[in-house]
Amino acid sequence: MPELTPDRLLALDRAHVWHPYGPMPGRTEPLVVRSASGVRLRLAEETHGQRELVDGMASWWSAVHGYNHPVLNAAARDQLERMSHVMFGGLTHEPAVLLATKLVEITPEPLRHVFLADSGSVSVEVAVKMCLQYWRSLGRPAKRRLLTWRGGYHGDTWQPMSVCDPEGGMHGLWSGVLPRQVFAGAPPATYEEDYADGLRALIARHADELAAVIVEPVVQGAGGMRFHPPGYLRVLREACDEHGVLLVFDEIATGFGRTGTLFAAEQAAVSPDVMCVGKALTGGYLTMAATLCTARIAEGIARGEVPVLAHGPTYMGNPLAAAVANASIGLLLGQDWQGEVKRIEAGLRDSLAEAASVPGVRDVRVLGAIGVVQLDHEVDMAAATRAAVREGVWLRPFRDLIYTMPPYVTDDEDLARIGRAVLAAAREG
Ligand code: PMP
Repeated sequence: MPELTPDRLLALDRAHVWHPYGPMPGRTEPLVVRSASGVRLRLAEETHGQRELVDGMASWWSAVHGYNHPVLNAAARDQLERMSHVMFGGLTHEPAVLLATKLVEITPEPLRHVFLADSGSVSVEVAVKMCLQYWRSLGRPAKRRLLTWRGGYHGDTWQPMSVCDPEGGMHGLWSGVLPRQVFAGAPPATYEEDYADGLRALIARHADELAAVIVEPVVQGAGGMRFHPPGYLRVLREACDEHGVLLVFDEIATGFGRTGTLFAAEQAAVSPDVMCVGKALTGGYLTMAATLCTARIAEGIARGEVPVLAHGPTYMGNPLAAAVANASIGLLLGQDWQGEVKRIEAGLRDSLAEAASVPGVRDVRVLGAIGVVQLDHEVDMAAATRAAVREGVWLRPFRDLIYTMPPYVTDDEDLARIGRAVLAAAREG
């Protein structure tokens, strides 16, 4: 039985707790969730006529198999009884080794080495460190800047913030303080040769100071939920090769099937030098992410004055998270995940089609298990959330976007419910 009544819990929350992207404690009104199972979140109290909500967000892209899954629960329990955590410096263990091996097997060639981190942002920090250190080791320390697209999002720690969109994005506050990076315009939704030429020219112009290009392949997520053709990834690969710049793909949101291929990079048949994965890696159970790199990067770093990758916070390689990640990947690959993502794509296309005729809706787009309704105005977040909750769905609209990336186990009836909720949010938000 819970220790706190919902009222008491909320009073303590208001007094002390700072939520992600929240104003100071006391100025948000979160819903109290007591448990979660399948695709449903169970609330402490009836809220706007609902006690259970279908999670249209999969806990920010991660809970692909749904909650309280027997296979993931068993993996966690089993590992818990052996060893929940141990330092990873100087020690190794089966869950981490199996996970690294599996990640190398399922990600594009020639990614070969894996650093297991504890969050997506940290895996991007590690990716940046790898790239900068590679060039330092080769005697090219001036190659220390990053090129990225506007409209991107790569996390909330320092280097990742520097490659989020400094204008449209969430970290504008820090522009002028963060490392100064090179920005290309956000990629258009269709392939435009002029834009591709512009990318090539920008990379050529800055090549002497660029360590790497870092982008989210195919879908720019939290920076605007934009989709772009995979052809631009080929342009980046070619230009990076031509001008001696590394290429980093941030697949933290897109990885593990979300866009219809296991990794979005596959749609371009292009391999990065460094790749970050996270979010769905543990099926949303535990916090873990990974940075993969090629042998060339590792060998380059090994030749340097400081031949180690100096990154090793306490929870790197956590065995509990690694064991669940292994189970989650096994679960995904052991089923027709591609069929399920296609089914969700068709369901979302169907259920969101009507949104196009809602006044104030500028665009409706669906790719894989991602559905987006873009408004021509800033959404009233509270009103839109309330409208979705009334339909029995948890959504988290932001800026001009109402969007969903449901668990892959969401059935057709719940997909239709999500569609109704997105529509209600678009009408009222
Ligand atoms: N990169 C991308 C593309 C993301 O979507 C996110 C998370 N929204 C991150 C990096 C950061 O990951 P985390 O929240 O686990 O730090």
